[in-house]
Formats: sequence, structure tokens, C-alpha cells
Amino acid sequence: MVGKSRNKEKEKEYKRLYYQRNRDKIKLQQKIRYESDKESWKLAERKRRLRKSYFPDLTPEEAYQEYTRMHAAQEGLCAICKRPESKIDPQLGSPTMLAVDHNSKTKKVRALLCFRCNTNLGWYEKMESQFEEYLKIYDTESA
Ligand SMILES: [Zn+2]
Repeated sequence: MVGKSRNKEKEKEYKRLYYQRNRDKIKLQQKIRYESDKESWKLAERKRRLRKSYFPDLTPEEAYQEYTRMHAAQEGLCAICKRPESKIDPQLGSPTMLAVDHNSKTKKVRALLCFRCNTNLGWYEKMESQFEEYLKIYDTESA
């Protein structure tokens, strides 16, 4: 057991030294890999984020499958305005993916929304009584 952990220490030290000596080369390789494969890198990141934010009981892969299932069930359209996403990802130059909407209190996932509806729904939920108050005042006055 002692020998084993000593070997592990040696290995760790070797890796550390290797990294130190080749830091620039490693960083450049990472940059090249990232640049040449930005989309799949972003997808992997998306899977991890989906799991972390909305599906903590699933693996990143399962979370992405669940997202894909929801996306297909909604035919790729926002559950509120029934339109495809219009917000463009500045890095990719293509529309962003629909956002996962969830109840902020219960954390229960509801449906997929476009950026505009998701943002406005969040604001509406926060200001619901003020919205209603406003409409009550001005709609009855002008009617
Ligand atoms: Zn929408």
C-alpha cells in the first residue's frame, strides 16, 4: 500500500513537471483543439450545464437526451409564442438553443422557451401583481 501511494506521488510529480516544462505547447494544443472543434466543445459544455441546472438526477448525456426529446415534442418551437429561436449566438452565428424553463421555486422543468419569452416570463412572474394592477387601472380608465 505504501509503495503504491509513493508511486502515485511520483506519477503526480512527473505530470506536474511535464506540464511545467511543456506548458506553452500544451496550451497551444488546447487552443487549437478548441478552435477546430468549437461546436462540439460547446455541446459538451451544454450537456454539463443542462444536467447541473435542470436535471440534477440525470447524467449529462441523459439530460441532453431529455432536452432533445422535449425539443422534438415541441417541434423545435417555443412553447409560448410557437416560433423558432431568433436570438443569434454571436460565436456560432446561428440561433441559440431554446431555453429550459423551470419553476424557480419548485425547480420543476416546464417546457422549452425562446430567449424573448423566457426572459419576459421571468419578469412577468416577478411583477405579476404589478402588471395586473397596471392593466386594471389603465384599461378600465380608457374603456
Ligand atoms: Zn417564444
